[in-house]
Amino acid sequence: MREPLSSDVVVVGAGMAGLAAALAAQERGGRVALLEAGPEPGGSAALSAGFVATYPTHDALRAAIPLGDPEQGRLLVDGYDPAIHWLRALGVAVVPAESNEFRFGRTHHLEAPAALRHLATLFQDRGGRLYTRTRAVRLLTDAAGGVTGVAASQPAGLAEFRGGAVVLASGGFQGNPELTTRYIGRWADRMLVRSNPHSVGDGLLMGLAVGAATSRGLHAFYGHLLPAPPAVVAPRDFLPTTAYYSRYAVLVNLQGERFTDESQGDEMNAQAAARQEQATVFALFDRAMYERRILGQPPHLDRVAAARAVGGRVATALTLEGLVEQLGAWGVRTHALARTLSDYNRAMAADSDAALPVPRAAHRTPLATPEFFAVALAPAITFTHGGLRIDARCRVLDRGGQPIPGLYAAGADAGGTFYERYGGGLAMALTLGRAAGTAAADAVLAARA
Ligand SMILES: Cc1cc2nc3c(=O)[nH]c(=O)nc-3n(C[C@H](O)[C@H](O)[C@H](O)COP(=O)(O)OP(=O)(O)OC[C@H]3O[C@@H](n4cnc5c(N)ncnc54)[C@H](O)[C@@H]3O)c2cc1C
Repeated sequence: MREPLSSDVVVVGAGMAGLAAALAAQERGGRVALLEAGPEPGGSAALSAGFVATYPTHDALRAAIPLGDPEQGRLLVDGYDPAIHWLRALGVAVVPAESNEFRFGRTHHLEAPAALRHLATLFQDRGGRLYTRTRAVRLLTDAAGGVTGVAASQPAGLAEFRGGAVVLASGGFQGNPELTTRYIGRWADRMLVRSNPHSVGDGLLMGLAVGAATSRGLHAFYGHLLPAPPAVVAPRDFLPTTAYYSRYAVLVNLQGERFTDESQGDEMNAQAAARQEQATVFALFDRAMYERRILGQPPHLDRVAAARAVGGRVATALTLEGLVEQLGAWGVRTHALARTLSDYNRAMAADSDAALPVPRAAHRTPLATPEFFAVALAPAITFTHGGLRIDARCRVLDRGGQPIPGLYAAGADAGGTFYERYGGGLAMALTLGRAAGTAAADAVLAARA
């Protein structure tokens, strides 16, 4: 173990939440060490589409995500506008935007990789110390149980980073199949990981090791459907191959049955798909839907061709019977599938889902226009909704509900802001990151005064 390095605040993870926390702590006068497991800062935020979006009011957020934590919801909703102004003041180009996916009511856009790089450079220019290839593995504590720093593994060995406070912002536990199976369920270790590769639950596990409580919603996550194996989806292909269109399609499992109301949206469909046999599902649609909802969304993109290009399984047929036969060759139960499709088409033609075992609230169109398509899809997890339990100052709480001295969490490590339904990952990481960095630095500097 090498000589400990000392700061006021140690931030674990240099993604959206970690960079926001580090810069905010610096602005309060704190000396900050920022540890990043990967070779570069940026995390999943740098891979993102860059839409910083959330709901405009508490009521709108509560209506959309009734089971989300209300205090964290306030941090998000109230912190959104100030955070956008703050990013602009830091020199990040953030412009009002519209997005097909983010229809929450408040949406801005930034060029994600460049913006994250800019924030990391600014942090260093202001005297912050960024340590890449430095993976926090254990929290250091004093005799009273307060957190006093982290031990981290670096290529040269283990190092200690001492600080008056630690902000955990390691981005969730989506990359840890042991944890996803434990919390999300039986088929969760078959999910694809649509995230940076380093968010493997270190924040959650380090917090649990010092007595932290967990939030609600540990079974829930934000994710999407991607082409199923044998497709291989590299990070550069995450965006073009995402099946954002699944809300318009018919989704069936290997039993040939619909298993969810597809019209709730792709992030809900991904969670339902994670509970289907082998975590494998099939999106079925006809040419009318392909031309209206898939082709050219956004312009110049064909998501079916993109799925094929990464080795995904795509079937086409001139009749529904022909499509069912091809799905049989993929292991789907054909009699059940044929019945599912005829029941579905009959219900959609009557514009009523009353006779269906699984509802279909919106986008009620039958599969009627040849040719017919099927794409094999798998749930892909971007970040976990559950994590460490925090209070309104982002302090991590112990199992008795008391703050653990010196420990804060933000972004996906701070669980409970969302619960199955999604309200903007970048906005959540940005607002909670700022709040955590501010609270951590203020507490450390106040204790010293
Ligand atoms: C393809 C894609 C598109 C997306 N598009 C959008 C979008 O348009 N809008 C939106 O709101 N959200 C989007 N998201 C989600 C968004 O990126 C995340 O919600 C957000 O980045 C979460 O922020 P975070 O700081 O919690 O995690 P991250 O940004 O992932 O940062 C976590 C960081 O912690 C590091 N780390 C992990 N473990 C350790 C450790 N032990 N020690 C040190 N460092 C560690 C990781 O390497 C990573 O850099 C998208 C994500 C992806 C993958």
